[in-house]
Amino acid sequence: MNADELYAICRRRGFLWQSAEIYSSISGFYDYGHLGAALKRNWENLWLRFFLSLNDNYHLIDTPTIMPEAALKASGHVDLFTDYLVTCRNCSQPYRADALIEETAGIEAESLNASELDAKITELKIKCPRCGQANFTEAKPFNMMFPVSIGATGKDRGFLRPETAQGAYLNFNREFETCRRKLPLGLAIIGRAYRNEISPRQGLYRLRELIQAELQIFFDPEKFNQQYRCRDEPEKLSVVLVSHRPELRHYTAAELLGLGMPEFYVYHMLRIQKFYTVTLGVPLQKFRFFEKSEKERAFYNRIHFDVEVEMESLGGFKEVAGLHYRGDYDLTRHQTMSKVSHEVNIDGRKFVPHVLELSFGVDRNIWALLDLFMVRENERNLLKLKPYLAPYHCGVFPLFKRDGLDKVALEISESLKNEFRVFYDDSGSIGRRYARMDEIGTPFCITVDYDTVQEGQLKDTVTVRFRDTAQQERVQIPQLHKYLGRFLLPS
Ligand SMILES: [Zn+2]
Repeated sequence: MNADELYAICRRRGFLWQSAEIYSSISGFYDYGHLGAALKRNWENLWLRFFLSLNDNYHLIDTPTIMPEAALKASGHVDLFTDYLVTCRNCSQPYRADALIEETAGIEAESLNASELDAKITELKIKCPRCGQANFTEAKPFNMMFPVSIGATGKDRGFLRPETAQGAYLNFNREFETCRRKLPLGLAIIGRAYRNEISPRQGLYRLRELIQAELQIFFDPEKFNQQYRCRDEPEKLSVVLVSHRPELRHYTAAELLGLGMPEFYVYHMLRIQKFYTVTLGVPLQKFRFFEKSEKERAFYNRIHFDVEVEMESLGGFKEVAGLHYRGDYDLTRHQTMSKVSHEVNIDGRKFVPHVLELSFGVDRNIWALLDLFMVRENERNLLKLKPYLAPYHCGVFPLFKRDGLDKVALEISESLKNEFRVFYDDSGSIGRRYARMDEIGTPFCITVDYDTVQEGQLKDTVTVRFRDTAQQERVQIPQLHKYLGRFLLPS
């Protein structure tokens, strides 16, 4: 499905739409409607369950979205969190320089510096998409943080956080103490982050206010490889290992270790691939890791692979997450700027812990699920989500709103609500009710019909219809809990 078709369904059914529509919306902001919010929450819960279970010492924390300037000075964001901006001298339209080159000439420009960007724009004779003139200002850095003045005097300057990661770094000392001085220590945050993008246009893919799910793992670089063994794991990883060869290949863990990658890093690649291909159900051929070259990655990242999913609506593989080995950059910077020691003492060795960051863009992941699983089959739209990801687990319908069918259906709906997310619907034709459930991903529909209630007598069975096959099965009413339950356990 292309982006417009998919967005139209999402908007019509209640997944998502541009924020503040009645005031003609500012680009880069989206609202989740009732189904989108439910899908997002299900994704977040699966993410937490999956990644926090990797280690007993991984925990969820929560921190403010406004951060003091000093912390973001230390992290490097005040000076370096920039994109290059060019402005059309004729019509004053601003552009992100690399995006302008990519969109008008189809050339990748993300790693170019200011003078290289200027040279490319001149060389390719790039014209302003708005007015058609080729006359741009020189590229200059533009800081993407939103400044905030705090309190009445405005003396305390802050910013909306550009990433959730800093909240975890600022809490390292305290959590290390409260968690009894053990490494690795993992601190996860799910929450909002803000980037004042110059010209966001790609829907949910590039937002000014976004949601991140990030896990920062603090570890002892001398011990981490022994703590996460994976050499003998048989699964093959889908990887574009740019430094080795330019195309996609499938590597075993042992092969990647043989190419010099650290075992802890490969271990986490295996887990991330499992989360996508098993838990979320992304087809393996639509999933890959993509290595970022030294020029493309942030200077503090020692190893950086993007996690990419192929999306038809966005025209190919797109980044949805990243795995970043950040060394001791973060804690050392905060130690230097705050003058508070971030060293730990383990078995008489003093050192600043290293960080492995698992960083996921939640909105991008939600869009990826909608893109991958919304399909059109035999004139009907189906959202083929894993049953446990679906906003509703089941629909409950009386075939007609009479002869006691509705009463029985309501009772069944009530009895399932404790355990399942249930949608009760008694209006319109049964075919339309099924179609609506198919389109929002409800995996099962339970129908109370004249085989359930015969001449006023309750006969104990209902029809269960499966979303993906439209096949139906008779199930005993007392067995429904157990019957549905076995499909709803996350893999
Ligand atoms: Zn112009």
